[in-house]
Amino acid sequence: MNKKNIIVIGSGPAGMMAAIRAGQLGQEVVPLTNVTLIEKNPTSGKKLLLTGKGRCNITNACDIEILIGNFRKNGRFLRTALNTFSNTDVMQFFEDRGLSLKIERQLRVFPVTDTAGSVLEILKKKLAENNVTIIYNARVDDILVQDNQVKGVLLRDKKEILCDRIILATGGISYGFTGSTGDGLRIAQRLGHQIIPLCAGLVPLKTRECYPKLLEGLTLKNIQLTFIGQTHRSAPTINDRKRQIISEVGELLFTGFGISGPLILSLSGQIVDWLNEGKAVFVTIDLKPGLSYEQINARFQREFSINPKKNIRSILKFFLPQRMVDVFIEIAGIRHDKQVSQINKDERHRLVVLFKGLRLEITESLPVEQAMITRGGISLKDINPQTMESCIIKGLYFAGEIIDVDADTGGFNLQASFSTGYLAGENAARLLTTDEHR
Ligand SMILES: Cc1cc2nc3c(=O)[nH]c(=O)nc-3n(C[C@H](O)[C@H](O)[C@H](O)COP(=O)(O)OP(=O)(O)OC[C@H]3O[C@@H](n4cnc5c(N)ncnc54)[C@H](O)[C@@H]3O)c2cc1C
Repeated sequence: MNKKNIIVIGSGPAGMMAAIRAGQLGQEVVPLTNVTLIEKNPTSGKKLLLTGKGRCNITNACDIEILIGNFRKNGRFLRTALNTFSNTDVMQFFEDRGLSLKIERQLRVFPVTDTAGSVLEILKKKLAENNVTIIYNARVDDILVQDNQVKGVLLRDKKEILCDRIILATGGISYGFTGSTGDGLRIAQRLGHQIIPLCAGLVPLKTRECYPKLLEGLTLKNIQLTFIGQTHRSAPTINDRKRQIISEVGELLFTGFGISGPLILSLSGQIVDWLNEGKAVFVTIDLKPGLSYEQINARFQREFSINPKKNIRSILKFFLPQRMVDVFIEIAGIRHDKQVSQINKDERHRLVVLFKGLRLEITESLPVEQAMITRGGISLKDINPQTMESCIIKGLYFAGEIIDVDADTGGFNLQASFSTGYLAGENAARLLTTDEHR
């Protein structure tokens, strides 16, 4: 009896998990199966090592329905994958192999070691245990197909490797220096799969105003951000029926080109969609969401009357991070050397209005190559959600970020990679036994 061959393309989290599961079944259930993992880099998991700022937020310990909800409208597609290899299964997988985990704020799960390297070590050990052959420094240029069925892969050096099943797990196009450069998407498209246009997800935003550069590195905590997307650039009007609003309390980080931070990254998908629809997008920052206009005004009046001889800059230091004071006075259009006794009612009003709504215009996001994830990818219509197999080419499976699913930060994206990888590996191996009946 001939040995069957499964090839997994891409040794990221999705490809490694797919190869591990196929390898396990190859030993236990479907003997005489070879699993080969092909990676163009000299090592596995280059992007995985960067995750969670090097600490690797491997999953989220939330309820499965909340997990599915985090993938928005595409979450339903992942239901079988997430039920087959859930967040608790992912935690168990690593804990059973001696990696202790901890749960942090918003139920984010990290290894106790605080290093992504320890997550990668376990995956590599499991690949070896399950006899997966890894070929490094080998770039797959194409997938060979005969009678609508996979036949093998073509490497950059023109070598062909024949096989019975292929799992394509080459990721998206973000952080291309890690190896995710969209090769798999181009191959899948050539084979007839629809690619949902790629765009940036979890990405910092650029602003028209230049003052964020002066505040680069400054984080504002407990502020309220209100994003407005409208059909024209003039001041927002209530009559604009296409106007959309998102408002949330959180943290903001000023950067050399605009704004970032966890809340901005989380909301960025929606903002990128508005920009792509041609909307003008503005954000207002309420620096004191717990205080009303009247309360801030009263506080200013009190401070001004106690310290009439003080310079406005030294008073504002009580209300603002020191680095913001000069920028703030500049935007309010007040002279820097004014004593508070010289601040008139109109100038005080301008200061209070700024506290409640410092405004920035969002011009664009950083490019998708610099985003944490790629949105878009292989259309869900072309993939069977029960198996991860292509609906177009028999024996071809997909796993990970190459698929058109993406979620917020919090460990959800790695969970999707592990779950789809597991399901693809499982079916690629199991369905080998039923080939004759297909
Ligand atoms: C900075 C950063 C931090 C992140 N932090 C988190 C986090 O903490 N938690 C979380 O859930 N998600 C996080 N993510 C997202 C997460 O890393 C990705 O969703 C995940 O890595 C996708 O896995 P993948 O296996 O599908 O693709 P990838 O990790 O992109 O792996 C694809 C692999 O395929 C290889 N490859 C590509 N083309 C070819 C080819 N032609 N031939 C052979 N090999 C090829 C690549 O070299 C690469 O090794 C983060 C992302 C970034 C950029």
